[in-house]
This record gives sequence, structure tokens and C-alpha cells, in this order.
Amino acid sequence: MYFTKQHELVRKLAREFAEKELTNEILDEVEESGTFPEEILYKMGKAGFFGIKTPKEYGGSGGDARCYVLVMEEIARVSGVASIYVSSPNSLSGGPLLLSGTEEQKRNYLPSLISGNKKLCFALTEPGAGSDAGGMQSTAVKDGDSYILNGRKTFITMAPLADYAVIYAKTDMTKGTKGISAFIVDMKNTPGISCGKPEHKMGVIGCATSDIIMDNARIPAENLLGEEGMGFINAMKTLDTGRMGVAAQSIGVAQGALDEAIKYAKERKQFGKRIGDFQAIAFMIADMATKLEAAKQLVYKTAYLMDTHQPASMEASMAKYYASEVCNEIASKALQIHGGYGFIKDYKIERMYRDCRVFTIYEGTSQIQQLVISGKLLKK
Ligand SMILES: Cc1cc2nc3c(=O)[nH]c(=O)nc-3n(C[C@H](O)[C@H](O)[C@H](O)COP(=O)(O)OP(=O)(O)OC[C@H]3O[C@@H](n4cnc5c(N)ncnc54)[C@H](O)[C@@H]3O)c2cc1C
Repeated sequence: MYFTKQHELVRKLAREFAEKELTNEILDEVEESGTFPEEILYKMGKAGFFGIKTPKEYGGSGGDARCYVLVMEEIARVSGVASIYVSSPNSLSGGPLLLSGTEEQKRNYLPSLISGNKKLCFALTEPGAGSDAGGMQSTAVKDGDSYILNGRKTFITMAPLADYAVIYAKTDMTKGTKGISAFIVDMKNTPGISCGKPEHKMGVIGCATSDIIMDNARIPAENLLGEEGMGFINAMKTLDTGRMGVAAQSIGVAQGALDEAIKYAKERKQFGKRIGDFQAIAFMIADMATKLEAAKQLVYKTAYLMDTHQPASMEASMAKYYASEVCNEIASKALQIHGGYGFIKDYKIERMYRDCRVFTIYEGTSQIQQLVISGKLLKK
């Protein structure tokens, strides 16, 4: 209903890529080593997955939000962690630049991000400011033609791998969220910038997450992204696309989990029957498929609204909230259908169950999505 023939071709391309390149052997190795193979990232860049919505003049494919959710869904269906590498340049990392970057900043950073030659991370969260990101304590003080950054960011996806970061810090402590500004920071060549140890995570292993420490880090004033005081608005607008991306990631993993459950329910026999012939299992599968379809419609509608320039902020929150919760429910039930084997790492469902746990947490928890949705509906 929301897609053209062109969109279906994009889905086909992403599905074929995921099935051919993201093999079980490679995904097992990623889990073992904790690193994602650069050659696969190179191929993803070549396939155009890192600049789906970015205009062609900056090296992107010039596609739309529907193309983006389809690629995210198909990659996540096979690998949750691979889909993070797709989402980052398309939303959290590329997004702030596309929204507020000068022409020079866009030309400087976007092409290498999209080709996969460079990585950029998005640093909003702090140890004491997660859901309440506006309560951040990091500061940026103007000093001649530089800013001096101090503070600590936490849980930053890809920070240890990143060449650059978009870092949010307060240029005016007296103005609340209106005192927050965004900066592009060179992670490798700025004295005073360092990363904490990579976190040991329960899922999405293969995409390192760490703190970023700013200790009197001096950065050129020209690296201010957008105007002073407009950083929080930049971050919130970026998160609209980000939330749609997590929602797409959720329907992808949920579809992968449902596929595994159906396959297993047809193969596994107990009491002389396929377990899928027991109504308890069959109805579980019916519920999983129905909820997944509802989640898909929310995600596709959000992308359609964005493509047709209609308000989509509340829909992005609804899609993220519902799809991430449903994904966790489906993964849990799919594991249950696998019985004891679901608990064993040899079965894909074990990884899917762990990978999707963070979907209800990052880019705004489910409770924060409820706040956004109810806030819009109950606005005075
Ligand atoms: C793997 C991973 C990757 C991440 N990547 C990034 C990244 O790249 N960049 C980045 O900036 N951040 C990143 N984050 C941070 C993530 O966005 C935060 O963890 C998230 O926003 C929640 O913040 P918190 O962990 O501080 O939890 P808290 O805000 O402390 O919340 C704790 C609990 O309280 C609830 N809660 C809080 N406030 C309210 C309220 N007003 N009403 C009701 N309930 C409430 C929450 O829903 C939650 O259940 C990442 C996190 C993880 C785990």
C-alpha cells in the first residue's frame, strides 16, 4: 500500500545482500571476536546502504524514508548488529549534519561517511542524563576562535571506532535545553578527547559502545554545528528519524525470529506430532504474526508521512514504542517454541533474543515514547 515497484526492488536488493553476505559463519565470528568485518562494511557502502536518504550531491543515493526502513528491516532480519551500521550514517550520525551543517561541513564529512571510509558517532547521553538528555552537564566554552569542551558522554555507539563525533554540550548553563549546542569533533586528532573501555554488552555484539571523555578539549569554532543554543532541537529532530530506524530494526529482527519459530514448529516432533500441530504453539505463532503485521504498518506509515512532508514525530514514537515491545515479545515466544534448544548458542534465536533487548531502551525508552505520545495528545 505504501510502496512502489522501486521500493520493492530496494527491498529485494537488501534481502539478497543480507542472505548472501551475512552468513551464519560470519555472524558467529562477529559474536566471538566482538568486531564486525571491514570487508562487509565496505560492501554495504558500495551497495549504497550508508547514504540511502542522503542527496546525491553528497555521495548518497537520494532515496526516501521508505527505502531506508526497507533496507533496515531486511538487514536486521538477518543481523541486528549489521543494521546498526546501516542506521548510524543514515540517521544519528548523518542526520545532525544534514539538518544543521553548512555546505562546507556537509561536503567535508558526508561523502566519506557514506562510502564507509569514515565513521561518525552521536554523543548525547551522559552518565547522569539519559532520558533527561537536557540535564546534561558537559560544557563548551568559547575561547577566541575555539571552544573548550569538558565532560563525559556515555553508552556512545561506535565511539571507539569513530573518526568523528557529533557532541552535544552546554554553551550556556543558564538556559536549560536552549543552552545546548552541537559540535563536530575529530575523535582521533583532538588532544583531551578519549574513549572509555568498550562496554561488555548482552547483545548487538560487534559494534563497540563506550564513554567519550572530554578533558579541556580545544576544537575550532568553525566546528559548531548549526547555531549556538540550537543543539537540543537538532538532537530531537534527528531522533525522529532515529526512532523510525529502531522501529524498522525491530520489525526486521521480529520477522527473523518469527521465521525461525515457524521453521522449528514444522520440524520438531513431540508426542508423535509436529509441535506446530499443538494449538498452544499454533496460536502463539498466529499472535506473533498478527502483532508483527500491525507493527509493520506503523513503521511504513511513519516513513510514508515523512516522505510526503507530513508531521510524523508522534507516529515515529508510536512505531518505535510498539515495534520494539512487540519484537521483544516475539523473540521471547520464538525462543519458547524452541524449548531448551533456544537457550543454546547454536540456534539463531538465542542471538536475536539478546540483540533486540536494547530496542526498547536506546533512542528513548518505551516510557519516554509514552511521554511523547501522550504529551502530543494531551497538549493544552
Ligand atoms: C547499547 C546502547 C547504545 C546506545 N547508543 C547511544 C548513542 O549512540 N548515543 C547516545 O547519545 N546514547 C546512546 N545510548 C543511550 C540511551 O539512549 C540511553 O540509555 C537511554 O536514553 C536511557 O537513558 P538511561 O540509560 O540513562 O536510563 P534512565 O533515563 O536513567 O532511565 C531508567 C528508567 O527510568 C525510566 N524513566 C526515566 N525517566 C522517566 C520518566 N520521566 N517517566 C517514566 N519513566 C522514566 C526509563 O524509561 C527507564 O526505564 C545507548 C544505550 C545503549 C544501552
